[in-house]
Amino acid sequence: MNIPELFGCMVFGDAEMQARLPAEVYDAIKQGSRLSSAMANIVAAAMKDWALAHGVTHYTHWFQPMTGVTAEKHDSFIEPVADGEIIMKFSGKALVCGEPDASSLPSGGLRCTFEARGYTAWDPTAYAFIKDETLCIPTAFCGYNGESLDKKTPLLRSMQAINKQALRVLRLFGNENVTRVDATVGAEQEYFLIDKAMYLQRPDLIHTGRTLLGAPPPKGQELEDHYFGAIKPRVSAFMKELDLELWKLGVPSKTRHNETAPAQHELAPVFTTVNIATDHNQLVMELAKSIAERHHLACLLHEKPFAGVNGSGKHNNWSLSTSNGQNLFEPGDTPHENAQFLLFLTAVIKAVDDYQDLLRASAASAGNDHRLGAHEAPPAIISLFLGNELTDILKAIELGEDYHAPGRARLKIGVSSLPRIPKDSTDRNRTSPMAFTGNKFEFRMLGSAFSIAGPNFVLNTIVAEVLRQFADELEQAADFTAALDMLIQRTIKAHKRILFNGNNYAPEWVLEAKLRGLSNLPDTPSALQAMLAPQSVEVFARHAVLNESELHARHEILMQSYRKTVHIEALTMLMLMKDAVIPACVAYQDQLTSLVKRKREIGLFDGMELQLLQKISTLCDELPSKIDALEREKSLPAMATLRQTCDALEALIPQELWPLPSYAQLLNSVV
Ligand code: ADP
Ligand code: MG
Repeated sequence: MNIPELFGCMVFGDAEMQARLPAEVYDAIKQGSRLSSAMANIVAAAMKDWALAHGVTHYTHWFQPMTGVTAEKHDSFIEPVADGEIIMKFSGKALVCGEPDASSLPSGGLRCTFEARGYTAWDPTAYAFIKDETLCIPTAFCGYNGESLDKKTPLLRSMQAINKQALRVLRLFGNENVTRVDATVGAEQEYFLIDKAMYLQRPDLIHTGRTLLGAPPPKGQELEDHYFGAIKPRVSAFMKELDLELWKLGVPSKTRHNETAPAQHELAPVFTTVNIATDHNQLVMELAKSIAERHHLACLLHEKPFAGVNGSGKHNNWSLSTSNGQNLFEPGDTPHENAQFLLFLTAVIKAVDDYQDLLRASAASAGNDHRLGAHEAPPAIISLFLGNELTDILKAIELGEDYHAPGRARLKIGVSSLPRIPKDSTDRNRTSPMAFTGNKFEFRMLGSAFSIAGPNFVLNTIVAEVLRQFADELEQAADFTAALDMLIQRTIKAHKRILFNGNNYAPEWVLEAKLRGLSNLPDTPSALQAMLAPQSVEVFARHAVLNESELHARHEILMQSYRKTVHIEALTMLMLMKDAVIPACVAYQDQLTSLVKRKREIGLFDGMELQLLQKISTLCDELPSKIDALEREKSLPAMATLRQTCDALEALIPQELWPLPSYAQLLNSVV
């Protein structure tokens, strides 16, 4: 197999466009200029020819509504002409704009049903591709008056915002050659794989994505023997096929390995611009699910499929890259480069501190609530890890002192004469929700099922805002270097509370964070509230990422999704009571009762059976009131107390009578 040839063969990428489009059309696309309708027709015809050569019959505007998954409505290329004949047609108009109606997708009240039209608009900055013999055209999705109804539109807007503000700052450093600054992202994806037949016996997994019941297995992740362990043949076959299919779609899947929990795995691609990384991550999730099916596996993307073992997240590696290929968070070799690096670094520090609640909100969902603060995942408190050396450098700057690097000569500090900052100085701290890892920031709070668009448009917007403030100030300065020194020093002083290199999982941190005045928003409803704060409204409006009504609509959609998720879980749990737990309890008690009776009849001692029966009977007596409470409240606490009783019962009732595969079976179902 020729992998370089295979890579991107299903993408209408740069090479294909260059070969099939006139130079001025290609250049217009690359420069992001508005295409005339004549140009759009040329692109559409070229795309169609390319697609037809691959056996494609349909096209679709592929978009990313607020459901967090992608949406597509297929149209065939066929167009009837005279005498019952057809031709294959695809116009520029059909490429550029679609009207999928899509009135059943969430809009948070932005669309009234009587004007329910939704429009999709081609995003020429992302690549069209072929999936399932369908030409997929990445699009933004909006309402009649242009209100954003998707994940992509604010992301694209935020990219413009950060580009504009970062360029202003670069110009201050005399950097005239850079024409564009893009956010780059590499999204590491965690997931579980279990056997499909077993999955089908768990209505909770089918309906909610997570197990609502389940006694702990004798062996979970305690021995830490799964992490980076040898990959089992069935999993390996799945991973190989997934990689191949992703490569065909131009997704640079790079790393695959077993994760910490049994049955947990990870895939990481090579980073790219955030818009494309977002499309890619959606494809990773979609293909992981569909390819798992072919291997008689179920891929679980839920943040916490199993209580008591690690949940799944998504590590969002974020950085800024210039059109010259320079990473703005790469510490440089010269004092000048380092001064620029430090300004961008302090911009992130300030942004993370000023907008910690918004960042937290961007990682909030019903699924992720089971994960934040538990086990390996970061707690719900935002802080920033810089590593010891960088922290010491910032401390020296703050105090106006010289910096003494261990094992190196004492260095004079002042922004204009900084030491070379070694890349490897950021030792890893896996407990931090946001870590500077040498030349990028790794935001680790995201849930595994998330679209990465939300957290990234927040990151882009808040950093753009701080860069704006910095540029406003520095553009006015008479002495740039002196003003820069002061600005950096002042910013470190004002925002150092957000820096934390210690163990984020330690209970002491929760107390210390409180003393530092950092927020701790433990659940989705409290976290999402931050979206509505005046400073959130202000920052999104100022950078034209979301206006106030778009923001409110988004809050409403996310809250509704949270409430519906919990409601569905409660109903599923009630169903499990009726169909699984109660019948199993009744059957086993019946067996034990008749055994006790028969033993007594022939004069035998019934101690063991009776004791067991009593234990089970006592536990069963807890059920009716707990079930009533769940029926009434449909709440997470009501589910949790009911689960306790059920799990205790599962531990006592033989597996053959318990109609649900156990944790031990599920977590070891793939051999
Ligand atoms: P890990 O964090 O698992 O040790 P790495 O740090 O090597 O692994 O990389 C994790 C992810 O970060 C990869 O997807 C990689 O492509 C991405 N990454 C590396 N550099 C950048 C960058 N400049 N911008 C965004 N993502 C990056
Ligand atoms: Mg990582």
